[in-house]
Amino acid sequence: MIANNPNLVSWINVPENSDFPIQNIPFGIARLQDDQCFVATRIGDKVINLASLGELGFLDGLPFDSSVFKADSLNALMKSGKSGIRILRDRIAILFSKENMELQNQLEAIMESIYEAERVQMMLPVQIGDYTDFYSSKEHATNVGMMFRDPANALLPNWLWLPVGYHGRSSSIIASDVPVRRPKGQTKNEGENPVYGPSKRVDFELEMGFITFEGKPLGEQINTEEAEDYIFGLCLFNDWSARDIQQWEYVPLGPFLAKNFASSMSPWIVTLDALIPFAVEGPEQNPPVLEYLKYQGKKSYDIHLEVYLQPEHGHESRICRSNFKYMYWTMAQQLAHHTVNGCNIRCGDLMGSGTISGPTPDSYGSMLELAWKGTKPLELLDGTKRAFIHDYDTVIFRGFCENSGVRIGFGEVKSQLLPATD
Ligand code: MN
Repeated sequence: MIANNPNLVSWINVPENSDFPIQNIPFGIARLQDDQCFVATRIGDKVINLASLGELGFLDGLPFDSSVFKADSLNALMKSGKSGIRILRDRIAILFSKENMELQNQLEAIMESIYEAERVQMMLPVQIGDYTDFYSSKEHATNVGMMFRDPANALLPNWLWLPVGYHGRSSSIIASDVPVRRPKGQTKNEGENPVYGPSKRVDFELEMGFITFEGKPLGEQINTEEAEDYIFGLCLFNDWSARDIQQWEYVPLGPFLAKNFASSMSPWIVTLDALIPFAVEGPEQNPPVLEYLKYQGKKSYDIHLEVYLQPEHGHESRICRSNFKYMYWTMAQQLAHHTVNGCNIRCGDLMGSGTISGPTPDSYGSMLELAWKGTKPLELLDGTKRAFIHDYDTVIFRGFCENSGVRIGFGEVKSQLLPATD
């Protein structure tokens, strides 16, 4: 892949520590001031309009029609599958590479397709069909098991044998910068009758999501070795949760209204291809997994993750540093397990990783764990304390990979919590 060459330099200036060098080439949906949406990529602080680049003829000869770039979602583009996206990323890398002298003469035409990132509004990038949420961090599952069940047997018996998951809801998945309303619902204190009202324990879940290409027909399986061919890319994903509602409602069928009031995703989908240089060995799995969950090679990814909390009139406090590589179950295993019964996945499905907690208390991926069920409130830079999220707090996730002098990032997902409605 030309686009992954670490020596490539763009003629677009890329600031130091930018998430978007020419080796990234993520995809998103953008628009200018209520104008029509278009498929975009980003280099440095510039957003590149692929629809107008296509109209200018720079994207001719690709294995799909340029009309896929005039869209309000990436779905039509994703229909071209891994091979189509690979060719497109390479074409963009060539167009914007410094080495391409021939194109320097045509710069003026290309510049019409390039905007300052701050001028552009980023939209929800994918029309999500089905949303599945996994529960694949051993540290997170152990912490929650210790708090709510038996500290001596924190992990349930199935956890080390299969990637536990549940079917979520796609209608309430929202773009970054869209505020979230504090949900209302039923909660219950021990020894009392349940009450109705605003949740008092609104929390974030530090997750990553992956977006799928079209899968196989109903009844067929995707195995671990081919699974990554069906993954388009990843985003940051805040799977908002109401812990008090969850605790009362979740028996026996699992999460429901505590989870589906909002989940926020970052605007740029970073392709799995771009992440190949950051693949690492997965964690040791003990007991050894069943045959259909075994895999070869590196299928975990070294992605640094950070969570910041910003009070209404305050500065950002960093409250968590975690890493996607802490996940016990890989995406390949999640997809193989998801389809082992013949369940089909489709173009534009979203799979959440589950909360990504690491081994140390500062790497826990939720307030529930960071403040240990409210018993150890976190102190922010302004001196105020948090056990859960307050009204008008803003929660920000950032994520990036770094090696061989290349840093590829995800930008951020950012959302403010608004008070419950009257
Ligand atoms: Mn979740």
